Amino acid sequence: MNIQSLRGGVRLKSAAEIELMREAGKINFEAHMAMRDAVRPGVATIELDAIAAQVIKRHGATPAFLGYPPGSRHPFPAVVTVCINEELVHGIPGKRVLKEGDIVTLDCGTEYKGYVGDSAYTWPVGKISVEAEHLLRVTEDSLTEAISKCVVGNRLGDVSHAVESFVARFGFTVPREYGGHGVGRQMHEDPHIPNWGEPGKGIQLRRGMTFAVEPMVMMGQRDLMVLNDHWTVVPKDRKLCAHFEHTIAVTDDGPDVLTRFD
Ligand code: MG
Ligand code: MG
Repeated sequence: MNIQSLRGGVRLKSAAEIELMREAGKINFEAHMAMRDAVRPGVATIELDAIAAQVIKRHGATPAFLGYPPGSRHPFPAVVTVCINEELVHGIPGKRVLKEGDIVTLDCGTEYKGYVGDSAYTWPVGKISVEAEHLLRVTEDSLTEAISKCVVGNRLGDVSHAVESFVARFGFTVPREYGGHGVGRQMHEDPHIPNWGEPGKGIQLRRGMTFAVEPMVMMGQRDLMVLNDHWTVVPKDRKLCAHFEHTIAVTDDGPDVLTRFD
């Protein structure tokens, strides 16, 4: 989400609140795994959305993206954002059918007992090109790098810098306009977490901060546009994009990933 959508300062979470976020994160993870199992050539993106909706509903939870932001003229009309190939973020699921060689990004948020888990993955559809495989691996690795910087005493800029500096080694770019965010009682809380920045700058990380860290990585140039559906963001050069995200808590024992389970 963009910087302007964030209000209210950074909200620290207690250990009990972090456990509630983990419950939301676990449902969100389950929704993702169910969608992952359904990703294959021939499936329509709206079918993936329905699968996530079903998992979330079964747990008595609420899809965090549906109708977001409230009061908007164009609230998001689905449970999952689905982006194929050159689509970067916020794609709307529909009748489009996945085909062999596509890559598909699924981003989903779940609210449960008043707390939110938010995570995203880019999956291969059947056999994909070597270059697409490389993009997926680098993007996921950049998320691991960024999460490793989410430790007490570091600065937000250390997290941001980790993403861009990592992917730049492979010639990839990150968007300036979209990034991660605080998360917890609301899907989008302060701070905005750019995927680029200067190490040692920005707010100092404290125990109880909870972030959605989400590298969005592009093979081409970083100039973006929003399509006529009011949501789908694509790079103007239409090169491939990938996106991985986890919700994490900053704890005295290091980063605690709240949306991943074995
Ligand atoms: Mg997300
Ligand atoms: Mg997010």
